[in-house]
Amino acid sequence: MKLSHLIDGKWIEADARFASINPSNTDEIVATYPDSGSEEIDAAVTAARRAFGDWSSGSPEARSDLLDRIGTRIMADAQQLGELLAREEGKTRAEATGEVMRAARIFKYFAGEALRRHGRTLESTRPHLDVEVWREALGVVGLITPWNFPIAIPAWKVAPALAFGNTVVLKPAESTPAVAHALAVIIEKCGAPAGVFNLVFGHGDAGAALVDHPQVDAISFTGSRGVGEKVGTAAMARGARVQLEMGGKNPLVVLADADLERAVAVALDGGFFQTGQRCTASSRVIVEDAVHDRFVEALVERAAALKVGNALDSGTQIGPASSERQLEQNLQYIDVATAQGGRLATGGDRLSLDTPGYFISPAIIAETTPDMRINLEEVFGPIVSTVRVKDYDEALAVANSGEFGLSAGIVTKSLAHARDFRRNVRAGMVMVNLPTAGVDYHVPFGGTRSSSYGLREQGYAAVEFYTQMKTVYVGD
Ligand code: NAP
Repeated sequence: MKLSHLIDGKWIEADARFASINPSNTDEIVATYPDSGSEEIDAAVTAARRAFGDWSSGSPEARSDLLDRIGTRIMADAQQLGELLAREEGKTRAEATGEVMRAARIFKYFAGEALRRHGRTLESTRPHLDVEVWREALGVVGLITPWNFPIAIPAWKVAPALAFGNTVVLKPAESTPAVAHALAVIIEKCGAPAGVFNLVFGHGDAGAALVDHPQVDAISFTGSRGVGEKVGTAAMARGARVQLEMGGKNPLVVLADADLERAVAVALDGGFFQTGQRCTASSRVIVEDAVHDRFVEALVERAAALKVGNALDSGTQIGPASSERQLEQNLQYIDVATAQGGRLATGGDRLSLDTPGYFISPAIIAETTPDMRINLEEVFGPIVSTVRVKDYDEALAVANSGEFGLSAGIVTKSLAHARDFRRNVRAGMVMVNLPTAGVDYHVPFGGTRSSSYGLREQGYAAVEFYTQMKTVYVGD
């Protein structure tokens, strides 16, 4: 499949510079795609700028209808899109189709929100004067997305951006261009006016050119902490609005009073599903001493039984790492963790299956301490570390260690501890008796500290980022 940029309503063919590979079968090229230089970025931004006036001042019903049609089309194509996503990113087919359906529902949700760009009317302190606070679209929004949710994350940025009257330039991740392209085809076929939605391919340089473009009013970025910092610094330096969703090192606390089976199921889901490649993955499990050994033993047993394989095979529970780079990084972190004193309790092997792919067996590194790199840095793979603590207070302190603050969970039967944890854990999202991953699509999403910067994504909160306020005084 040879992909093209979508600029100003036209598919722009260019030499294929890069390829995306099926991580379950590395002999298979999924798609080839072009690079963008400053010329393509400039053309896309200029088209978006030109389209902005009509789009933002047009009927919100037109915006709502477009989003609704996009959602309906994605739902209708969910099986094919899910298969493409599984082939390009490596999630299992079920996980991939679930992500596609989520993207569809996000478009449907924002079809409703398009009609809710509310302002306020206030009584003025002065007679014969009205005061209104409007919410206006921002203008051209640059969206930069990662590979691990290659349709859901573009959806949760594109849908609110368009709903509230902005025009868009999307730069998807290098390893999942075909999924982004499939989404763009749907958006275009559903009738987005020329220039309202533009897609440009390319690597980090293309993203940086988008961030630096003076006609881009806002940047919404999801990706790693290191890149996010650069994006934020560059965008803020020229006064653009910016929103950054970055990494996590999400703690899951297991207290001694927890139902052990439930705790193991929660840790298994949060730590390993989607190959652990979720920013909200439960990558650090903090366990009270009284149940630590039994918990680790049971988790090891369940993790070792997970079926790793080709993402498209029906029995597969854990797909491959999404790239050679990810796989190498996973293996290196296991070495670092064991060198620093962790005990590899299961997994961590590069697997040779009957298909050439980036397979790794789910790993548990027990007896780690909070200061080890495995507990401070995001690994992004099917690797869970466990930390032994003496009681709840120590568990909370460990959960709050490190620089991240995306999601945090606790498994307990104690209402008092659950309530205390909700209040005192430093995270943007808190889960009680649930994995740290697995969020609704219609509620605010985001973290604290190094995990996020700026206004929240998703749900009713999205209007805050994708619009700006204007206060209007009207006299007689
Ligand atoms: P990444 O390497 O930071 O890349 C993210 C995006 O930024 C890609 O489109 C990338 O392009 C682009 N990019 C790279 N360098 C850039 C630069 N200098 N200027 C502008 N854009 C640039 O992240 P990833 O490996 O794709 O995704 C995994 C990361 O995303 C993890 O850290 C994960 O935690 C995070 N994530 C966070 C959330 C959240 O909501 N908090 C959700 C999902 C994922 P290329 O890839 O083409 O180079």
